[in-house]
Amino acid sequence: MKLLIARRLRAAIALAAPLAAGLALQPACQDDDDECVVDADCPEGAICDSITDECEQGCRLDEDCRSGLICERDECVQGCRSDSDCGEGNFCSPISDKCIECSPGLANCPCAAGDACSGVLVCQAGICRYPPGDDTPTCGDDVCSPGEECPDDCGGGPVCGDGLCAPGEACAFDCMPTCPNRPLGMAPFGPSPFQCGAPGPVTLALMSDINEFWGSDLVACVCGADNPLGPYCLGNAGASSTLNQAFGYIYFDPNKLADLQATAGGSLLAPAWLLAHEAGHNVQAIHGLSSPWTIYLELSADCLAGYFIGWLACQGEINEFDVQGTMMAVCSGQDSAQTPWFDPKAHGSCQNRVDSTVGGMSAFFAGHPPEEACAP
Ligand SMILES: [Zn+2]
Repeated sequence: MKLLIARRLRAAIALAAPLAAGLALQPACQDDDDECVVDADCPEGAICDSITDECEQGCRLDEDCRSGLICERDECVQGCRSDSDCGEGNFCSPISDKCIECSPGLANCPCAAGDACSGVLVCQAGICRYPPGDDTPTCGDDVCSPGEECPDDCGGGPVCGDGLCAPGEACAFDCMPTCPNRPLGMAPFGPSPFQCGAPGPVTLALMSDINEFWGSDLVACVCGADNPLGPYCLGNAGASSTLNQAFGYIYFDPNKLADLQATAGGSLLAPAWLLAHEAGHNVQAIHGLSSPWTIYLELSADCLAGYFIGWLACQGEINEFDVQGTMMAVCSGQDSAQTPWFDPKAHGSCQNRVDSTVGGMSAFFAGHPPEEACAP
């Protein structure tokens, strides 16, 4: 389902692009060397910018780069895709995407049947591996496990960005798997206490991404006439931030999701943000995050939505167009100028809400735990 959002986002972008071009009143005649509709129209090492319809240097996938290069945050950088890129006897580190020289018996290094692998490793299918079910070594535990890529555990110094996790090192990509998810096992306790209409396929796809990230089974419901947010939740969505009967459910007005998508220039990231904000209220319940002031709970939910968006960005599923459009949609949900910050319905100003969302994204990339980074 992850790919589905990517594909749909691209489709939304492709639809929006001609509109943007039309609005810019571009001259009818121009140099079309760089003009493009899809990435495939551009030469190797370039992708099609959906806003300008011109080829620009960059990549979305490893395959967009020359061989010997990989795609990292939209840029082609030195790196390996598989062991075959690294020459005889070396392997491509799944952590750093860099070639690592193999020594006999080390983890992920080649072995022949009957060869001894270090420690608990076993020679399986020509590679020294951890036996199934055995945990991979823990960086920073002062134990130098066989094949461990942690300098301080094994007598070296920490280096950020080398794909090696050293104790106390705070580099997200050195100290955790790329784009880690945060499984919480959230799910409803029982049947929905209010009417629960079936969401459409796009909403289900967005929920699937949210559930994949949080390792959960949250359920989205189209609001019915009996919803406490108001009949059919007109223009609104809601979820419980306490462990009550409504926990695990996200109630929404489908028109609200469509409005947000329109405000974001067609990007599905905007409705995903709102659903992720509501999922954030469930995360608050699980972690016991609370505040006497509504606005702090709401900004915390915005932050948790941003945290999820960081994960999408990390995987290259969204681009600047999506993020910028979504920030406009986030702003559209700001309080009116007359709403005091302590109002029980306060959600925050445009600036408050954008800051919280961006703060959540940064926290994801810094590797901070969501319940700390987004505490109200
Ligand atoms: Zn909320």
